[in-house]
Amino acid sequence: MVDALTGIVVGDTDRARLCATRACESGRAVVARAPLGVAVNVCKPSLEQSPNSRYNGLPMSRELPILKGRGVTSNPKNRFERLHVEDDFEHFDGDEEFAASLTKVATEYLLDSSKTIIATNDSPDVGFTHSINPYRGCSHGCCYCFARISHEYLGFSAGLDFESKIMVKPAAAELLRQELSSPRYEPVVLAMSGVTDCYQPAEKKFGITRGCLEVLAEFGNPVSIITKNHMVTRDIDLLARLAAQQAALVNVSITTLDANLAGKMEPRTSAPRRRLDAIRQLTEAGIPTGVMVAPLIPGLNDHEVPAILKAAAEAGACCASFTPLRLALSIAGLFEQWLANHLPDRKDKVLNRIRSMRGGKLNDPRFGSRMRGEGIWAEQLRAVFEMGKKAAGIKWERPELSTAAFHRPGGQLSLW
Ligand code: SF4
Repeated sequence: MVDALTGIVVGDTDRARLCATRACESGRAVVARAPLGVAVNVCKPSLEQSPNSRYNGLPMSRELPILKGRGVTSNPKNRFERLHVEDDFEHFDGDEEFAASLTKVATEYLLDSSKTIIATNDSPDVGFTHSINPYRGCSHGCCYCFARISHEYLGFSAGLDFESKIMVKPAAAELLRQELSSPRYEPVVLAMSGVTDCYQPAEKKFGITRGCLEVLAEFGNPVSIITKNHMVTRDIDLLARLAAQQAALVNVSITTLDANLAGKMEPRTSAPRRRLDAIRQLTEAGIPTGVMVAPLIPGLNDHEVPAILKAAAEAGACCASFTPLRLALSIAGLFEQWLANHLPDRKDKVLNRIRSMRGGKLNDPRFGSRMRGEGIWAEQLRAVFEMGKKAAGIKWERPELSTAAFHRPGGQLSLW
């Protein structure tokens, strides 16, 4: 794995040492740390020190206050990797060019050559069993995103890597066609965005989600989508075809109506008013569309629930649901840092309420409880949500989808 900032390949000691040496030759100072914090190589280019530099006091780890267009500011250690690479900022004082480069992190698109596209899960508290993810990682960059830790399975960090190193599956539509054509395939609702958002900015460039929807529409296979991006309206033609067969449901996720807060918390998603417009356009096209308030963060956006539900209902939302915030593993530290950067005055209040819902911790991974939370604040969130739904006139939980229209085009039985 190559660190975007340092150009370092992270994986084993020898590779890290080799890359640290190369980085040193190119004028970068790098510390590659083995487990337990042992430095395996340290390179210190001699840069002129500038006592008046505005970059004096850069932290020793990569935790800048704010990065434009990014949800988080650092790359915490991957829990599966033996090595963790950190920049040693002490030796960059006065290097304006390098310091300026730290304020931007470019998005990289990397080939994902997965051989299958339909993933299954048997979690007792996840609302779907089969899903398609055209992309891994998500440049929407929501600071709280539960999917961040999934990037660690790929050798990346749950931090900036998750939102800047996007794995792209160009063969997704063809793989889907093959899997649906197999006689072993039993038609079932396929969730898109089960892990990461299928309408994240990469979709504009690659169109893989649309390719998959074309296949699903051809086969009449039901699909449920959740997204925070207005781009879903681009595919109204395909979704309306499926909806006419009771085979499409869209949930638009709205966490706040405050565009300023959304910009900080979910930097590359569509603005809240655009998400409401997506609900309106989809509903007008006959596509059942709900609002998903996920995550609900006690002390941060819970007071907005009635207004979000009212606005969504006015836009045509047929159903509504919510999930309280989950802060698994390194997401807890990233979210704490985000609060410290953006809402320091509310940090303790929010974290304490999360702890009160999670048995005194920031995370409670038990099935069932992890999706609901426990205690007085969890009860209050549920009560506020139910009252908000009632006041907004939203009656449905979630429309049922049908597999009745599923067929294999041209009588094609199997490509395998
Ligand atoms: S849009 Fe969804 S998948 Fe993407 S970063 Fe936000 S919460 Fe995660």
